[in-house]
Formats: sequence, structure tokens, C-alpha cells
Amino acid sequence: MDREMDRAVEKILNARYVIALTGAGISTESGIPDFRSAGGLWEKYNPAEYATIEAFRSDPGKVWRMLFDMVDITVNARYNAGHAALAELEKMNILRCIITQNIDNLHQEAGSANVIEYHGNVSRLECLHCGADYDKNEFDAATLIQKKIPPVCRKCGDILKPAVVLFGELIPEEATVVSLDAARKADVVLVVGTSAVVYPAANIPLVAKQNRAVIIEFNTERTALTNFATDIFIQGMAGKTLPEMVRCLKAAM
Ligand code: NAD
Repeated sequence: MDREMDRAVEKILNARYVIALTGAGISTESGIPDFRSAGGLWEKYNPAEYATIEAFRSDPGKVWRMLFDMVDITVNARYNAGHAALAELEKMNILRCIITQNIDNLHQEAGSANVIEYHGNVSRLECLHCGADYDKNEFDAATLIQKKIPPVCRKCGDILKPAVVLFGELIPEEATVVSLDAARKADVVLVVGTSAVVYPAANIPLVAKQNRAVIIEFNTERTALTNFATDIFIQGMAGKTLPEMVRCLKAAM
């Protein structure tokens, strides 16, 4: 791993435009399960059955049973050393932006300023019927956590949906435009804790690669990307490998 880390540090120090794409894996050390963790949320709720817009439209109460569990988990989660390392990399004027597939707000809590939320954020609620949107904090915790009653729109009375992108929904337009622009400009992409199988997010490193960017992947295991797009693979928990990368960068500067 040391040799790979040395190569990564050299590429980053010589780069003009470094971006990161993060996935659920960066938040597992904060106690939020990814799609694969044994005993995680997704063993209880099959995403193909619960995390789709069709399921929400036909039975929002059923989907909210999963969402309540998700709110419980994310409300208590704190950012970890991996999130903090990326925030520091931005403060060192190395990292331009983070494109995240996560909805947990932990990059922002760690201090990252330039975060593109590709799949939305669980802290906002939206009405599919009339288009109203709300901050989650406008609804008291009892409604969202203890009583387990789905919140309803104050304008039209319909059941609200968290402003997260469910399977079958479009990516927010601004996130698409800004992240494609970043991918085209990037000469290094840090791909952290994503299985790279959910599209179109998984396209971001491929677009960058077409423009000859170097792909540096941080994951505990090999992924769909590793064999055909990754240039440097750094295996391990992101909460250890990312702080290690920051330490090595500082030592080499
Ligand atoms: P995924 O579950 O498909 O893959 C997670 C990846 O992270 C795996 O490759 C795994 O090997 C790796 N990983 C796990 N722990 C790690 C660690 N400590 N360090 C480094 N790597 C680690 O996740 P995905 O690719 O992000 O796709 C899942 C979809 O589900 C995304 O669209 C995302 O929006 C959503 N999701 C989000 C959250 C969240 O907001 N925290 C949690 C679960 C799912």
C-alpha cells in the first residue's frame, strides 16, 4: 500500500484540478450502513422494493417505515476521520469539490464547503403534489422520530417525501451540470467508498478518465471500477487511508 500511496501523493501534488466522488462507504465508520454491510438497513429493506419512486407513489406509508429508520440512523451520526481528511484537503487548496452520492450531510458537518449533493439530502422534505419544500427541523422530532407518523404538506395535505433521489427519479439538474463540468476539468479524481454500480453517478470517473484524469480509488475491496478505470488502488478503511494521504501530502510539500 505504501508504494501506491507514494504514487497517489505524487499525482495529487502535480495536479491542477482534484475532485472527489464519495459513496456510502465513507460513512460506514460513522455508523451508517452501506448497501452491503451485514445486518444493515438494507437487509431489512430491499432497496429495489422500498427505495423507488414507484413504491413511494403507490404506498408512501410503507416507504416511510424505511425512511423513519434512516432518519434515526442519520440524526445520530457524526462525521469521521475520512470526512475530516477531505475537508482538510479542501482547506489546503488541493481539493476543488466533493461530488457525493450520500444524503447524510456529513461532509458539510466535517467542514467541506464545496459539496455537490448528487442524490439530495435527507434534511429537506418536499411535496410531490404541490412542490412545497421544508427543512426537516420545521417538523418536531416527535412527528419524525417517536410517533412515526409521516409528515404532511401544510399547503395541500399530501404526504411529504425527503428530498433524496429515489431509484427512478432524475438527478437534480444543477448537480448534473456542475458535476459533469468538474469531471471534465479534473486531472485527478479520488473515488472513495463507492461500489460504482449506481448510474449516472458511476459515470463521473469515466468522463474524467476520457479526459485522461488519473483515478485514485479508496475502498476496502475491489469494485466495478478497479479493473478497468482505476489507476491507483488504495485498499483499506477510508477513515484510515484518507488521513494517511493527508499526512503524506503534508510531509511531501
Ligand atoms: P454501496 O453500498 O453500493 O458501496 C459502498 C462501497 O463502500 C463498497 O464498495 C464497500 O466496499 C465500500 N466501503 C464500505 N466501508 C468502507 C470504508 N470504511 N472505507 C472504504 N470503503 C468502504 O454504496 P454507493 O456506491 O454509494 O451506492 C449506494 C447508493 O445508496 C448511493 O446512491 C447512496 O446515495 C445511497 N446510500 C447512501 C448512504 C449515506 O448517505 N450514507 C448510505 C447507504 C446508501
